[in-house]
Amino acid sequence: MNQPLAPALANEDWGWHGENGLSRVINVSGTMTGLGASRAHPEVAAATGAAMGHFVRIHELQAKASKVIAALTGAEAGCMTASASAGITLSVAGCITGLDPARAEALPRNPGPKSEIVVQMGHLCGYGAPISTAIELAGGTVRMVGQSTLAMDHQLRGALGPNTAAALYVVSHHVVHYGQIPFPRFVEICHAAGVPVIVDAASEYDLRGFIAAGADLAIYSAHKFMGGPTGGIIAGKRDRVRAAYLQNIAIGRGFKIGKESVAGAIKAMERWLVRDHAAARAAERAALEMWQQDLTGIPGFTVRIMPDPTGNPLDRLQIDVDPAVAGTTAAAITRHLAGLDPAIIARDHEVELNYFQLDPCNLAPDQAEIVSRTLSEVLRDAARIPAWPTDIHGPRNGGIDAYLGWLTNA
Ligand SMILES: *Cc1c(COP(=O)(O)O)cnc(C)c1O
Repeated sequence: MNQPLAPALANEDWGWHGENGLSRVINVSGTMTGLGASRAHPEVAAATGAAMGHFVRIHELQAKASKVIAALTGAEAGCMTASASAGITLSVAGCITGLDPARAEALPRNPGPKSEIVVQMGHLCGYGAPISTAIELAGGTVRMVGQSTLAMDHQLRGALGPNTAAALYVVSHHVVHYGQIPFPRFVEICHAAGVPVIVDAASEYDLRGFIAAGADLAIYSAHKFMGGPTGGIIAGKRDRVRAAYLQNIAIGRGFKIGKESVAGAIKAMERWLVRDHAAARAAERAALEMWQQDLTGIPGFTVRIMPDPTGNPLDRLQIDVDPAVAGTTAAAITRHLAGLDPAIIARDHEVELNYFQLDPCNLAPDQAEIVSRTLSEVLRDAARIPAWPTDIHGPRNGGIDAYLGWLTNA
């Protein structure tokens, strides 16, 4: 099978924006909630739409999802919820209550004493919301291990006890990348104490490794690289998954996933199993090489292809800015790009270090060329983009200003 990188049509995409009076966006940032996560393949969109016209027994549909999740991950079972964040909350809740519906109904107010969730301090990240919130929504109490850049085996061992409900391991570019306990060791120590391990692998391409290495529950986003409708995938040991699913009688209600999203996610998972990953990667590579070629040699900028920090099979183009030569900053440039039409949204979460990145994995056809042309014009003339001291506050504050500004000047 030889699939294009981005099968949905860019032209139709722009039509949709026009019809709805929405501004046009080229996403070279990543799978971002604030940009609508990902673009679905037409088959996924069709499967999502097809479900809308029918009644279904939801348990049956979720059992079908369980089979597909099992095939995809190698886990015994799986279920779906509203998002990966919801998946963390329901997994934590399930580890607190087990299969006792009365205990599930008592959450989050009365989790009982065995409700501590052990997490390395360097893993207590934010992905748009604090991960501690996802734990606390279930009535869990965060039990931190180690310091921000160092967690040691004895510290983990010492944190596990009769009040431990689970341990949570986070795999993400958002977490500290050194000094943390490696996953196999983490599992070994937790299992020796009889503590189940939950893995937040929301954005990881490796759907099998954590389960194979002993994770009791692993959580993925359906709407990230898989390109499904918004949803969270929980995979793991059968009774742990059942306990997470049981939470739908209480706290899970607010994280409800609909039939259409389960049906669409099933299609996205089935496609992922047979997708031509090498072809997709080659298309991403072609975009990166075009960008690198077109943007190399512009004074004030150094470009290089960088691997994904968590080892996903995905590279990005990094553009380092030397403000003394470029006459402006990385933050000013990404602000400028975001103000164009179509807006070009670059990866700017470390922009205070004076670099930004271009992520090729969400491009529609022709967009790689638009990005290359635009960037090479903008960078050559970058000294004309005024740098404001406030530029870094927006990216650094994670979009809070946009939330606070929403509906205030409409
Ligand atoms: C994206 C992400 C989440 C949240 O995923 P949603 O499905 O959007 O709720 C949680 N953890 C990590 C590591 C992520 O990358």
